[in-house]
Amino acid sequence: MRASWRLGRIAGIDLYVHATFLLLLAWVVFQEYSRGLAAIGGAMVYTVALFAIVVMHELGHALTARAFARRAESDERPGRRPTPNAGRALA
Ligand SMILES: [Zn+2]
Repeated sequence: MRASWRLGRIAGIDLYVHATFLLLLAWVVFQEYSRGLAAIGGAMVYTVALFAIVVMHELGHALTARAFARRAESDERPGRRPTPNAGRALA
């Protein structure tokens, strides 16, 4: 992924943040500049918290896709029992 930085890995899924996220932070600073440092800090905390919520939402998509992919694999082969992990992931 170009122009992005790896933040880490959760449940085997690599997390990246794109360089344009810095534009959002710069915009937040620009918007709150006249209200002072506390306002900038508060807006930054809000923005990073919102980012974390979006990351959790996207992880939900990725984990759901992974769970259904496992189920699809087991359904494609009649007679093969689903793996215990697939059942737990779909519960
Ligand atoms: Zn979504």
